[in-house]
Amino acid sequence: RAKAQGRNQYSLFDIELAANVQRRRERLLAIEHGLDQAQFRLHYQPKIDLARGRVVGFEGLVRWHRPDGEVLAPMAFLPDLDRSDLERRFGETMIRQALDQATAWFTSGLAVTVSVNISGPHLLSEGFVEVLAELLERHPDCPPDRLALEIVESAAVNDLERAVSVLKQIRELGVQVSLDDFGTGYSSLSHLRSLPVDEVKIDQSFVRDMLDDINDRNIVQSVISLAEAFSLRVVAEGVETAEHAEALQQLGCTLVQGYAFARPMPVAEVADWLDRQSSSTSS
Ligand code: C2E
Ligand code: MG
Ligand code: MG
Ligand code: MG
Repeated sequence: RAKAQGRNQYSLFDIELAANVQRRRERLLAIEHGLDQAQFRLHYQPKIDLARGRVVGFEGLVRWHRPDGEVLAPMAFLPDLDRSDLERRFGETMIRQALDQATAWFTSGLAVTVSVNISGPHLLSEGFVEVLAELLERHPDCPPDRLALEIVESAAVNDLERAVSVLKQIRELGVQVSLDDFGTGYSSLSHLRSLPVDEVKIDQSFVRDMLDDINDRNIVQSVISLAEAFSLRVVAEGVETAEHAEALQQLGCTLVQGYAFARPMPVAEVADWLDRQSSSTSS
């Protein structure tokens, strides 16, 4: 369009595009500054084993603590990070934080795993496994299997062969792999067979409607049977009510995460939350 209008002529479209590029660049500079200032912090949501009535892990979910006190959810800044120069630095920062926390909980005698979400491009980037190995070496007091990496199926599908090889190497380091948002991609069945993972997480969209929508209930049931067939752990996410938890347990899924139990919380609140749990189950 700009060409048709001749040289040195810019269409409104070009101007808007340039403005968008400029705005994203500014947002990325803000993210870089936020990384320098340690403003990105993992909040933790417990993963609960209903069968044993105890917390078995925590998923770290990043929040941006702005200097003005505002706390931003991931969707407000993850899209800017996507395929940017900062994506690796950001992801490594989150893994380091998860390992610091896993070390602290392990040394305090709390038997929990810490999960951290990894973007597809970061997972498949050159040197990912080497950096992970180095981070583990710097946390000698943390058994590697206390760390779990959550990846989404779509991250693996684009280059399945490479994904399989990277996931194998991650598990050889002793780190667990969890397949997040399972069921939302296509041809999930064949992927599950070839991907070396320890756990699948049923996407919350299926869990949310499983009590009213027979299709969603069937999907939940299928994922549970699939996981069983491949000897994988299965976790339901987005469990918002006791009725959901009960239905899941009846279908054979005892690992759950969701607002019915706890929202993601800053690490400073976790100890109190754990105290309240143990006092409510022992009384
Ligand atoms: P996810 O990994 O699938 O995480 C689950 C999301 O559902 C989280 O949203 C969590 O707060 C929310 N959630 C948990 N329980 C419930 C519930 O009972 N009901 C409802 N409605 N929602 C629930 P959040 O924290 O906004 O994170 C959104 C997504 O951002 C995550 O989805 C994950 O894909 C991504 N993400 C979060 N932290 C990180 C990170 O450190 N690195 C990367 N690369 N991605 C991250
Ligand atoms: Mg996740
Ligand atoms: Mg998920
Ligand atoms: Mg999700």
